[in-house]
Amino acid sequence: MKIAFIGLGNMGRPMARNLVLAGHDVFGFDLSGDMPEGATKCDSARTAAAQADAIITMLPNGHILKDVYADVIPGARDASLFIDCSTADVESARTAAGMAKEAGHVAIDAPVSGGTTGATAGTLTFMVGGDASALAQAEPLLSAMGQRTVHCGANGSGQAAKMCNNMILGITMVGTCEAFVLAEKLGLSATALFDVVSTSSGQSWSMNTYCPVPDVGPQSPADNHYQPGFAASLMLKDLELSQQAAWSSNAATPLGANVTEIYRDFVVDEDVDRDFSAIIETLRSKGAVS
Ligand code: NAD
Repeated sequence: MKIAFIGLGNMGRPMARNLVLAGHDVFGFDLSGDMPEGATKCDSARTAAAQADAIITMLPNGHILKDVYADVIPGARDASLFIDCSTADVESARTAAGMAKEAGHVAIDAPVSGGTTGATAGTLTFMVGGDASALAQAEPLLSAMGQRTVHCGANGSGQAAKMCNNMILGITMVGTCEAFVLAEKLGLSATALFDVVSTSSGQSWSMNTYCPVPDVGPQSPADNHYQPGFAASLMLKDLELSQQAAWSSNAATPLGANVTEIYRDFVVDEDVDRDFSAIIETLRSKGAVS
């Protein structure tokens, strides 16, 4: 297929590269000029979209997504397939898909989990919102970039699933870090805590796969001076999206609200954007009352 790929940053670049490797013609555009090997560089998003059957976006947020859709939709070929893989708010995802559908195109939101490692290895999970027929059309492209696709419901449902998942991730990471700090104060080694919890009811992805303590469990950003990985600012973005959604849908998320505050303070206080698991160092520096 001929594919326009708009937004070739840390995630978009390797995803587009996997499409090239799967034999597709990729027409890329990014404001920074970055381009993966084998893709054709275009001088605007509109030029890229105008020659493609499918338009994939991997952009920083919902505002930019809507601007890009407004720019490219008028020049797109008839009945193009729009796949947005960015993490965006549900409202923007629905609006963007509505704009494309109104102009006679097919549109899904397909945010991802798996990070830059998954994007490079082609092992991302896609959470898809949109019609089943649209997903069927997108499937060959998604399977070139990932290994699992979950159909979550109508347009916007993929984004809803993504923010719920990442709210759990933020909460479990802070909970896991709190347990390590408490264990240290109680004289319990980090290795012993990991060995118990990773095989007990306290286990989670934050503990088992992404352990926030160096030299414990599998390799994680903690073993690399907390270089991201998944930057704390991106975690904060997703948590803020979850809280906007909780507010507008009147859902009670007290732990989600609390962890959002914790990451907001962390990101404001940090000079560099470290991995979100580095929150353990802030907790370690505090006592029970501060
Ligand atoms: P990034 O900042 O590395 O890449 C975004 C790219 O979009 C940049 O290269 C930027 O130049 C480009 N861009 C911005 N505005 C543009 C425009 N109008 N036209 C064309 N290009 C434009 O970010 P990333 O890490 O690649 O993340 C992209 C999206 O994926 C975000 O929504 C993020 O929340 C989500 N995400 C990231 C991760 C991760 O681990 N990095 C994991 C899952 C989801």
